[in-house]
Amino acid sequence: DAALAVPDKQVESVCPYCGVGCQLTYNVKDNHILFVEGRDGPANHARLCVKGRYGFDYAHHPHRLTVPLIRRPEAKKTGDFVMDPAHVMDIFREASWEEALALAGGKLKQIRDTKGKKALAGFGSAKGSNEEAYLFQKLVRVGFGSNNVDHCTRLCHASSVTALLEGIGSGAVSNPVMDVTKAEVVIVIGANPTVNHPVAATWIKNAIENGTKLVVMDPRKSDLARMAHRYLQFKPDTDVALLNAMMHVIVHENLVDKDFIDSRTIGYAELEKNVAGYSPELMAPICGIDADTIRDVARLYATSKGSMILWGMGVSQHVHGTDNARCLIALALMTGQIGKPGSGLHPLRGQNNVQGASDAGLIPMMYPDYQRVDNAAARARFEQAWQLPADTLDPQPGLTVVEIMHAIKRGEINGMYIMGENPAMSDPDVNHARESLAALDHLVVQDIFLTETAYLADVILPASAFPEKTGSFTNTDRLVQMGRQAIDPPGQAKQDLWIIQQMAQQLGLDWQYPNVGAVFDEMRHTMPNIVGITWERLEREHAVTYPCRKEGDAGESVVFTKEFPRETGRARFVPADIIPADERPDADYPMVLITGRQLEHWHTGSMTRRAAVLDAIEPDPVALVHPLDLAALGGQPGDIITITSRRGEVSLYARADDSSPQGAVFVPFCYYEAAINKLTNAALDPYGKIPEFKYCAIKVVLGGTE
Ligand code: SF4
Repeated sequence: DAALAVPDKQVESVCPYCGVGCQLTYNVKDNHILFVEGRDGPANHARLCVKGRYGFDYAHHPHRLTVPLIRRPEAKKTGDFVMDPAHVMDIFREASWEEALALAGGKLKQIRDTKGKKALAGFGSAKGSNEEAYLFQKLVRVGFGSNNVDHCTRLCHASSVTALLEGIGSGAVSNPVMDVTKAEVVIVIGANPTVNHPVAATWIKNAIENGTKLVVMDPRKSDLARMAHRYLQFKPDTDVALLNAMMHVIVHENLVDKDFIDSRTIGYAELEKNVAGYSPELMAPICGIDADTIRDVARLYATSKGSMILWGMGVSQHVHGTDNARCLIALALMTGQIGKPGSGLHPLRGQNNVQGASDAGLIPMMYPDYQRVDNAAARARFEQAWQLPADTLDPQPGLTVVEIMHAIKRGEINGMYIMGENPAMSDPDVNHARESLAALDHLVVQDIFLTETAYLADVILPASAFPEKTGSFTNTDRLVQMGRQAIDPPGQAKQDLWIIQQMAQQLGLDWQYPNVGAVFDEMRHTMPNIVGITWERLEREHAVTYPCRKEGDAGESVVFTKEFPRETGRARFVPADIIPADERPDADYPMVLITGRQLEHWHTGSMTRRAAVLDAIEPDPVALVHPLDLAALGGQPGDIITITSRRGEVSLYARADDSSPQGAVFVPFCYYEAAINKLTNAALDPYGKIPEFKYCAIKVVLGGTE
């Protein structure tokens, strides 16, 4: 019937999934989305991938939360999630909004007033709008009184952002994805764009057709690798060895851009000294790439008229994630491959608003626009902007995602407010994370489905899905775009901005924002990089790139053309040495686990597994195993295998997949029935505090555990 229906309205918006930020049109009839079409946005030019085109009907799913829920006093909190809506009412009872808000906010206030400001923490969401992220972090900083606020950027690119801020003074990309069409050489390392940024991958393929040379460096052979000029399948965990060897070649063969180094950077001498010990001959056996190939690729990158590096979580999700990113930055700086069209650095941002949520201050050490909380002048600026008495804001950086879980276990954090995040699925060593969430005195979860995290809540506040609200979203290219409301929330579900403000009121704050535009207006006046973008302009133009420092500015899609946003205006080299993964394979756990995403499913699967087409394509949990490893187990594709690490075990289907290197197994983290994060290692990169999702030791046996 939907196929025959004629829409009664069309609403211009953006895709709710990845950081590419494709613009789309919702075709709606009777408050129901019939279908979605691509729109001519700057990042997609009407292209959409399977998620953007077919992943919309989760919003109409019968599992939607439509009324506030309060946990029954007798319902024990256990981490064993049960996906059975009938079972839900054994655990929760329905409540009015008035009762739910009074309990949700009242108990948080009580914990704050009796146990102290640091006894509370909040997780916001990279799937929410900029305005939601901004208000949420403001609520934690002003209402809770600490900087214990974070979101899943900690789990994806925190190490990249740390290295970028340290090295070049900005955590965002230097060039948009589309610049690959202007580059002579493109390196894609630790990223699988055809799966995770599909429309971006189409621009890379178009560039290849026009003569751009693609170099893919990855332990897993992605589809893009099959189109690459060179594919370097280096051994997992050896990024620094490979990248330092490339820099060694560039120094040794005098392929550096001396003018750029002299005029635009500091610290080159230490870098040069450091990479002297990393000759390709020495590094070849470590990283598994022969010395001649390392030399060829180093020359190709250094000598082209324009080289870009795009990277993903294969780089960032290691205990040496910050060091990996430092090496990529150093490669660009020493060759002058940054600061011009078709030449730069692009960490591919994962979720549709992870860039914007980080920009808006949803991180424990920074206010909006990366102004440090431990900087007295920045604190004073925000106290003034938020009309607070002097010295009200906490000068101490807060705790990060995984640190908050540990602090709960130690009894230091007793109450949490989680908006749209699902740490009970997405955190490393998730049994530990679930135990921590269950140990809270009070957990408030605001979401659209009963997620694995909501299952452990004391109060659940039913929120709005992406097409049910209006807000701005910032894509991986620094493009601030307008997402518009297409349908109304179901039942008594409310828009997130309304809920945050109601929670603020329960905490004693009197916030009066008449509409989302008013929140954006306050936010932009605290953020020099977007102060020139007005709500009216966003409504009119749909998308504006930042930096945009004055009203009327066009916005800069390519940055660092003259200087870097550091005190000296110069970028800084930071040398890195090899640090091994926290947990290496051994006789008991001889294989390596790599986790990530599939094309059809998004993050913890709460949306895409409830989208009919996407779920039909990939309905069951699978592990991708090299055919020779599967044969060695005595197994066939489709057999059940059990994967065990020192922290847990899961059973799931095996798929023969020669893109994974022998000895490594890849598992998506979206399946609650086989929550692979029960196995992952919570060891953190010491700088970015990102967990090592891309490497831990496992053993695999044929058969299930039953
Ligand atoms: Fe959505 Fe990303 Fe696909 Fe574009 S590429 S349609 S933003 S999931």
